Amino acid sequence: MKLPRIFRLPFCKPITIRYITDKQMAALSGKDLSGMWSGLTEKPTIYVNKDTPLWEQIDTIFHEIKHALIDMETDVQSSLIETMKVEAGQTAVEMREEEE
Ligand SMILES: [Zn+2]
Repeated sequence: MKLPRIFRLPFCKPITIRYITDKQMAALSGKDLSGMWSGLTEKPTIYVNKDTPLWEQIDTIFHEIKHALIDMETDVQSSLIETMKVEAGQTAVEMREEEE
């Protein structure tokens, strides 16, 4: 079975999935983790501890994807939705001005 190397979500860069050893994970995070999410960086990455059983790696991928989804939602909310609200606010002001 081949685990995915890349994962795509809307509104963000493709997410690289990297499979690293226990040692590399400890060096990277300072902790004993089964997985880690980099956050929405220039190169968003999910790190999976490949020294854990395969079934656990699969669970880890989906756990980290949930973190990615939450970050994506927050990002969309602050950039897209806030911009739309500002524009909607301006439109409302303009409409009021036209009425007067
Ligand atoms: Zn978590």
